[in-house]
Amino acid sequence: MNHRVLFARIPKGVPVPEDFGFDSVPVPSPADGQFLSRTLWLSLDPYYRNVMKGNQLYADRLQPGDPMVGETVAEIVESKHPDFRPGEIVVVRNGWQEFALSDGKGVAKVDPALAPPSTALGVLGMPGLTGYAGLVYLGEPKPGETVVVSAATGPVGSTVGQVARLVGARAVGIAGSADKCRYAVEELGYAACVNYREGDLREQLKQACPRGIDVYFDNVAGDTLAAVLTRLALGARVILCGMIEAYSMDKPPAGPWLGPVVGARATMKGLVVYDWIHKQEEQRRVVGDWIRQGQFRYREDIAEGIASAPEAFCRLMRGENFGKSLVRVSAA
Ligand code: NAP
Repeated sequence: MNHRVLFARIPKGVPVPEDFGFDSVPVPSPADGQFLSRTLWLSLDPYYRNVMKGNQLYADRLQPGDPMVGETVAEIVESKHPDFRPGEIVVVRNGWQEFALSDGKGVAKVDPALAPPSTALGVLGMPGLTGYAGLVYLGEPKPGETVVVSAATGPVGSTVGQVARLVGARAVGIAGSADKCRYAVEELGYAACVNYREGDLREQLKQACPRGIDVYFDNVAGDTLAAVLTRLALGARVILCGMIEAYSMDKPPAGPWLGPVVGARATMKGLVVYDWIHKQEEQRRVVGDWIRQGQFRYREDIAEGIASAPEAFCRLMRGENFGKSLVRVSAA
């Protein structure tokens, strides 16, 4: 028999075992073009919580009674697929069950000689790729820079921290216990690791990152993100990877909800106009030409006389101005 764990209902808050069910069905037989595999390892990933609430970011859709979805490492036991042989180990989305059929789409073979097969679900799999690609290609860490990562000892975070160290950056972890922090420093080679459950996180970050934070790889969002943002160095890069703090919430937390930034793969950048002074001449020329050609419009909200400045300013701050707020102090 094939023992399966089913999705029973959308959890309220943090999932509880009652949100799942169990059943047993006969082990299926492969049709032509399919193989049957026996699950060896099931990956548990935070994003399943989002799948359970129907988040559209993911391809997975669950109805009550469906076997839970998820990535697995499995051994092929019977095959009617030309590319797969019994005995081969593969990464396949069997979900939370002991056996499943596959048509081979999206299936990757695992070389057990490379590393233990379970790593294909962790540091050599999807979470590892997340940490590696996110840090290398979005974070672009440079030697000597300070890279901070939250959930520092998980598969994503431990990849980020170690890649940072190996490219010559200074890795600083944020983790949720003294044990995790000790492991981060002693085993993973973080220069420092702060425990956000003990003491003031901002103060701890100040101590651990005296020159500020050049790259922040965020796995949790919420208060941790808020604390890190106060310590960013000039030109810092912030990679929004995960928001686990919010996954079990029914409504997004207060403040701007950055979930859509992740979904849209968007980039947010700080802008200080003074960095662009060298473009002023270009801007005057380009926009000035457009104005003269009648292609570019502008509007001015003019108050008359210096005495009207306070009220005009207050109108501006109440949002009652309409166009560029100006005071005509004297006639030209
Ligand atoms: P993980 O680190 O093994 O597990 C989650 C960790 O998050 C926990 O151990 C805990 O570590 C920390 N955490 C902080 N606040 C939490 C809260 N309120 N509830 C539960 N855990 C909390 O997980 P992972 O697989 O490596 O994933 C890390 C993050 O990356 C997740 O947010 C995940 O969704 C995200 N992710 C994103 C992508 C993507 O494509 N953007 C891909 C994969 C994973 P501490 O005790 O140390 O805080």
